[in-house]
Amino acid sequence: MISFNVGPSKVNPALAQYLQDAFDQNILSISHRSKEFVAISQKVITLLHEKLYIPKDYTILYTSSATECWEIIAQDISTQSVHYYNGEFGKKWFEYTKNINDAASGYPFDAQNVLKVDTYPITQSADLLAFTKNETSTGTQLHDSVIDTAYKMHPQALTALDCTSCLGGIYIDTKKYDIVYGSVQKCFGLPAGLGIMILSPGAIDSAKRRKSIVRYNSILSMAEKIKDYQTTYTPNVLNIYLLSRVLEQMPPIADTHRMIEQRAHDWYNYFENHNTFKPYITNPEVRSHTVITLSAAKEHISAIKIKTNAEGYELGSGYGPLKDTTLRIANFPAIADQEISGLKNILNNR
Ligand SMILES: *Cc1c(COP(=O)(O)O)cnc(C)c1O
Repeated sequence: MISFNVGPSKVNPALAQYLQDAFDQNILSISHRSKEFVAISQKVITLLHEKLYIPKDYTILYTSSATECWEIIAQDISTQSVHYYNGEFGKKWFEYTKNINDAASGYPFDAQNVLKVDTYPITQSADLLAFTKNETSTGTQLHDSVIDTAYKMHPQALTALDCTSCLGGIYIDTKKYDIVYGSVQKCFGLPAGLGIMILSPGAIDSAKRRKSIVRYNSILSMAEKIKDYQTTYTPNVLNIYLLSRVLEQMPPIADTHRMIEQRAHDWYNYFENHNTFKPYITNPEVRSHTVITLSAAKEHISAIKIKTNAEGYELGSGYGPLKDTTLRIANFPAIADQEISGLKNILNNR
């Protein structure tokens, strides 16, 4: 079955070999304090900096998931965050945060429109602006210029980007932001259970100013340990190893970005001209490049799922309130050109 699901998604096909290597080389039994682990982890951190163009003075931490990053940020970095969202993930991030910091505020906006940050009355004491770079539930993507405008209005605040469904798929100009995070089961084509959190020196300073207590994944203890490429708890060593192998053969993100953008363009073009399935997001300016959301009548949606399944392809369902009226197609790097044409062949006959 070829998965076009938007996460977990189709894994990198080279994983069959990497998993065998992990077993053969005893990676599954190494201690996370061993020099073998440190070497693997150092490779991951170095390659992430290199391939994703992350500034040298930024800290990269391992977490268990993107969801965990929501809590880490709320507990250790901000107290008065402002959340802009147009879908379920951004909304959940806000709700999780609100339960920890009552002073957090949230501004929903329409998924079909460009976010106009200047229309919201933001308090000058806001200490963090929270954006979902790629909203997986609606299939939208925020343009950098929107975030730039927000930051210019509130230079005292840090900026945080949930990049879970685009990190490793499109170029993120990390040097412009303080917190960028994601997990590996989407654009990295890896199994779930590992998150990556990228922090500017300013984000670390903010954690230092807050009296952070020692608890599961407090930023300061994590940042201290990662200086030696280690973690505060026994991490997902297998996934960190797999990530090191995937990163080794990954092209620089600018190359992947070009491919993903071209494929997204082709997908939207294809569906603009399709009789049954239409892009759910009608405004091309806000369309996601990595998650293509389609709308159609309920009966067409259930019929095409059955049909594609019978032919060995799995489509992503709609999410939350859009469950029955939309479909989602992952445009992630692990998908091959012939799999895209294979899926189009089935969709052509609708
Ligand atoms: C998938 C996703 C998450 C949740 O990721 P986990 O690794 O399951 O915690 C959060 N935000 C966005 C935008 C996502 O797409």
